[in-house]
Amino acid sequence: MSRLTQEEYANDIYPPDQVLAEVEESIRQCGMPEISVSPGYGRLLTILVKMSQAESVLEIGALGGYSGICLARGLGNAGKLVSLEIKPEFAELARKNLTAAGYGDKVEYRIGDAVASMKQLEREGRRFDFVFIDADKVQAPDYLEWSIRLARPGAVLIGDNTFMHGKTLDPVHNGPGVQGIRLFNERMATDARLDSTLLPAYDGLVVARVKESAVLN
Ligand code: SAH
Ligand code: MG
Repeated sequence: MSRLTQEEYANDIYPPDQVLAEVEESIRQCGMPEISVSPGYGRLLTILVKMSQAESVLEIGALGGYSGICLARGLGNAGKLVSLEIKPEFAELARKNLTAAGYGDKVEYRIGDAVASMKQLEREGRRFDFVFIDADKVQAPDYLEWSIRLARPGAVLIGDNTFMHGKTLDPVHNGPGVQGIRLFNERMATDARLDSTLLPAYDGLVVARVKESAVLN
């Protein structure tokens, strides 16, 4: 038996990321939940934003700005990030951390329930090339539907925590969050408007692309 898990091995071969380590420390200091996206998937977010050349990125669930920094790192000069967060004090820490990381002018925080914010973004005619879905899991299926409505043709949609630390697979767990993420995963896997794949490392991540034919606007 090896001493390290596959995730630990993968984490250890990368040099330490000082900026993200400080974000994690700030989250600890504030007594906020330590549930930032895993380092491997944070790196994937940066790469996918770059590869897709996304100019408008939407994040659902800011926490302390860890994934926000990963997303912002992938943006080109014209790129912008809109981040939705229900807790004003979390958005404030995220803003502080993105500013310290040099992305203060790239990000706009919208405080409130993410579905309400997405409805407002639709009214404003905003469209996105890339959406990272990572807020409460109860509403995850709604976030997916609204993400498709706000998507440009070919947009990348990503969902975090598809396994909910194993609860997704365990029939004894049936709370609203677990039911939400199960429906979200199933829709990601079967919705005819999407191509997708579920990556089973860490807490699970699903990566999808919105087909051109799915976007009417
Ligand atoms: N994406 C972050 C982690 C987000 S944790 C990262 O990886 O760095 C989930 C976040 O979603 C929390 O900050 C929580 O306050 C927020 N949240 C929960 N319910 C929400 C809702 N209904 N609308 C918007 N944000 C919500
Ligand atoms: Mg997450």
